[in-house]
Amino acid sequence: MDVITHFIDGKLSEASDRSGPVYNPATGALAARVSLASAEETDCAVSAAHKAFPAWAETPALQRARILFRFKAILEARMDELTECVTREHGKVFEDARGEIIRGMEVVEFACGIPHLLKGEYSEQVGRSVDAYSLNQPLGVVVGITPFNFPAMVPMWMWPVALACGNTFVLKPSEKNPSASLLIAQWLKEAGLPDGVFNVLNGDKEAVDHLLTHPEVEAISFVGSTPIAEYIYTKGCSYGKRVQALGGAKNHLVVMPDADIEAAANALIGAAYGSAGERCMAISVAVAVGAVGDDLVARLAEKARELKIGNGLERGLDMGPLISEAHLHKVRNYVAEGEREGARLVVDGRDVTVPGGEDGYFLGPCLFDKVGTEMRIYQEEIFGPVLCVVRVPDYERALRLINEHEFGNGTAIFTRSGAVARKFTHEVKVGMVGVNVPIPVPMAFHAFGGWKRSLFGSNHVHGMEGVRFYTRRKAITQRWPEGDIASEFVMPTMK
Ligand code: NAD
Repeated sequence: MDVITHFIDGKLSEASDRSGPVYNPATGALAARVSLASAEETDCAVSAAHKAFPAWAETPALQRARILFRFKAILEARMDELTECVTREHGKVFEDARGEIIRGMEVVEFACGIPHLLKGEYSEQVGRSVDAYSLNQPLGVVVGITPFNFPAMVPMWMWPVALACGNTFVLKPSEKNPSASLLIAQWLKEAGLPDGVFNVLNGDKEAVDHLLTHPEVEAISFVGSTPIAEYIYTKGCSYGKRVQALGGAKNHLVVMPDADIEAAANALIGAAYGSAGERCMAISVAVAVGAVGDDLVARLAEKARELKIGNGLERGLDMGPLISEAHLHKVRNYVAEGEREGARLVVDGRDVTVPGGEDGYFLGPCLFDKVGTEMRIYQEEIFGPVLCVVRVPDYERALRLINEHEFGNGTAIFTRSGAVARKFTHEVKVGMVGVNVPIPVPMAFHAFGGWKRSLFGSNHVHGMEGVRFYTRRKAITQRWPEGDIASEFVMPTMK
C-alpha cells in the first residue's frame, strides 16, 4: 500500500506514525494511505519555511515571477497527469478537473505580474523637502488549509500570490485527496523554487491546531466548511495571526418570469449537478418567480434524468461520484429528510447504478420542488447533487430569501430586464453575483469571496485582495536636511 507523505524543505519525507485512508470514490477501493503529521512534523515544515524566508524575501520580485513562469510551462506540459490525479482521488469528471486546473493556473498567470502588482506609492514634497512613500513587504511564513473539493485550484488561489509576494508557504491540503499538492510541490522545485519556500504538510486536526498557534506562522488562508472556518478564524486571530477563512454556501439562482427559461434550465443543470454539486459555487436553490415554476421544473426534471454518470476517468460524462461513503450517506439522508419535510421529490437519484462502480459513492441527480424555507434541505448546505426549487410570487420575495439566508457566497439572476438585473446586483447581500451567468466565479485578477457566514475576515482571495492579504504596508517619510533639525513639540503639520 502506497503511503503519501509530506514535502518538506525540498524533499518527500518519511511516513508519519499516524495515517488515514485515501479512497478512489469511483470504485470505493482503498487507493493509498496518507501520513497525518504530528506536532513535531508540523514544526519541521514551519521551520523549513521560516529558514527559507529571508533569502526568498530578498529575491527580486522579477526573479520570483520567473520561477512562476517556468512552473506554468511545466503545468501546461503535464496537465493531463495532474488532471488524472485530481479525478482519481476526487471523482469529478476529467474535463471538469481540467477546468479546475486551468482556473488555478490563471492565478499563477496573475502572480507572474508581481513586479507591477507590488509597486508602492510615492508622494513628493508632502512637506518642504519631505517625501513620503509606501512599500508592500512580505509577512513571513504563511499557511494554506484547503478543502477536498478543489484539490488543485483552491491551493492555487493562495500560494502563487503568497510566494510571488515573497512569503514562504506551508500547505495543509485535504487528507481526502492529498496527491495533487505533492505533484505541484515537485514541479515548483523543478521550476527552480528554493527548498523550504513551498512545503506540503499532510494531516488532520492535530496539524491544523499546531499551525494555528505556532509562533512562526504569520497568516492563515483557509477554505472549507463554515464551522471549521469560524474555528480557524477565531483561534488564529486569538493567536495574533492574520486570517482569511472562506466557508460554506447555499447559492440561489433566481429565474424571473421574463427569463429565457430553456437557457435558465440548462444553466441550472450544470450549476447544480456539475462536480456532483460539490462546489462552493454550485447552485443548490432555484428560485422560480411568478408563474415560471411548472415549466422550469418540467425542463429540469427532463434534463436531470439524461445526465451521464460514471467513473470520471472515462470521457464525455457529466457527473462522477461523491467524495466518500460517509458523505454519500449524509447526502442520501438529506434526500430522505426532504421527503419527510414535505417537499416534492421530482427526480430521485438514489437508485442510480454505474456498471463497475457498484462500490463507488454514486448518487444520481435529485430534484425537489415546492421546498419551504423552514426545511433543513433549504437551510443547510448539502454539498451534493440535490437541487431545491422554491416558488415565490415576486422579485421582492426572491431577494428577501437570499438576503435572509445564513450564507452569502454566490448567487445569480436570469432575466431579460437590465433594470431588474441592475436592482438585483445593487440590493443582494452576497459576495459574487451573476447576471445570466450561473456560476460567477471571479477571474484571477479580480477577487473571490463571499459575505455573511461564507467568509470570516476582511480579504477575499487572489487578485489585489490576495496581494494585500500577503503583504504588510510600510509608510516612509523622509527628508535630507542640509541644516540642523530643530526640536518640535507640537504635532508636525505641513509648513
Ligand atoms: P472541511 O471544513 O471539512 O475541511 C477543510 C480543511 O479543514 C481540510 O484541510 C481539513 O483537514 C481541515 N479540518 C477539517 N476538520 C477540522 C477540524 N475539526 N479542525 C481543524 N481542521 C479541520 O471542508 P471539506 O469537506 O474538505 O470541503 C467542503 C466545504 O468547503 C464545503 O462547506 C464548501 O462549501 C467549502 N468550500 C468553500 C469554498 C469557498 O470559497 N467559500 C470553496 C471550496 C469549498
